[in-house]
Amino acid sequence: MSNSVYEALTPQTLGERLGKLDVLTEYLGTDISTWSVKEVGDGNLNLVFIVESASGSVIVKQALPYVRLVGDSWPLPLSRAFFEYHALKRQALRDPGSVPEIYHFDEEQALIIMEFLTPHIILRHDLMSATRHETLAEVLGNFVARTLFRGSDLSMNAAERKQDVALFAGNDKLCDITENLIFNDPYFDAEMNRHTTPHLDGVVSELRADMDLKVEVQHLKSIFCANAETMLHGDLHTGSVMVTPSDVKVIDPEFALYGPMGFDVGMLLANFYMAYFAQPGHIADAEGCTDYQAWILQVCEDIWQHFVSEFSHLWRTERTGILYPASLYEDQGHHLASEQALTQMLSKIWQDMLGFCGVEMHRRILGLAHIAELDTIEDETLRAQCETKALLFGRHLIKNRHALGAPADLSRLALVME
Ligand code: ADP
Ligand code: MG
Ligand code: MG
Repeated sequence: MSNSVYEALTPQTLGERLGKLDVLTEYLGTDISTWSVKEVGDGNLNLVFIVESASGSVIVKQALPYVRLVGDSWPLPLSRAFFEYHALKRQALRDPGSVPEIYHFDEEQALIIMEFLTPHIILRHDLMSATRHETLAEVLGNFVARTLFRGSDLSMNAAERKQDVALFAGNDKLCDITENLIFNDPYFDAEMNRHTTPHLDGVVSELRADMDLKVEVQHLKSIFCANAETMLHGDLHTGSVMVTPSDVKVIDPEFALYGPMGFDVGMLLANFYMAYFAQPGHIADAEGCTDYQAWILQVCEDIWQHFVSEFSHLWRTERTGILYPASLYEDQGHHLASEQALTQMLSKIWQDMLGFCGVEMHRRILGLAHIAELDTIEDETLRAQCETKALLFGRHLIKNRHALGAPADLSRLALVME
């Protein structure tokens, strides 16, 4: 069906339309009457089908020509499937085993056929049922370090890098969503915004009247728009991570773009901090709640530590790109200069990361796309209390990002707010 005109799949048409694809019959067998197809998309944008038979299973993800969350009044290009496919390919090379295996891509139909991760569940759900994961911080810290480092000028050669930047520049409509929904809308009364009202009205007015905050956020937006430092995942929240007790995988990089190093890790940590503030809405027993919150803060600290440690390791062993060449440093015995440049780069990533972290917390409480950890708290007064803490914590990170020292300081700040 590769050259046919785009048409959205349905559970009823999928078998008939894809039943002749070798890649599918290889996993599922040729008798399409034995295939079961279920649409499970719970995201904001796309269709996701689980296709199973007695012999195997796959995921079929197809882009829709509009934003699923809003409907066909908001068109969105099918090409996002192309960028998701290319991002997944690069992530698989840069951090093997971190993403689902891709079996097939059909550009015309905007569909990706990939490994069905099972019995994995979305990390966000585990963060609402007090589940702990041993390897989570290490896998996620390494994922960001490896994908950020290996997708940057620290690793790639000039031609490869420039061509890749040009390729991903085509994902402009998805970038435009990030630029507007994350960096603008939360800070004024934008049409698609929503927040817990009237409970949050006071704090929302306070944030929107905070001129320093609004200037800082546009500084962050300018860092986001003008710094094509590396290929980012672009939507690295805890709904883009799937887990079992022993495995962690990252999915859904359709927002992939070249942007600043601090963005992915900032977005990721923001989602953990929001889960932290949401816990009183999920765990009634005070001691159990505090224990689990302490685990979340430890995960945040550990993600950053693993990120720093792996990024530093790659800096010292894999700097094959066009920046900070070994010929200027190590080859001349200037090892301290090399370490100095690394420390400065990490410090810059840390500061950007804190800003992006704060902005992500704001937009998930004030903007269009919210998160289940907060949205599912039925008691609105309790939900608003959790959200208020997250909003103020986010503002603190944005405004103090040049002064805050280490991940343990963030844990202390979070505890101070209790
Ligand atoms: P969207 O871009 O619309 O957010 P996602 O890629 O996040 O779509 O997928 C939506 C949901 O489909 C996920 O939350 C997850 O439950 C399921 N899903 C997606 N990819 C896989 C996969 N490879 N294996 C298992 N489930 C998946
Ligand atoms: Mg998603
Ligand atoms: Mg998505």
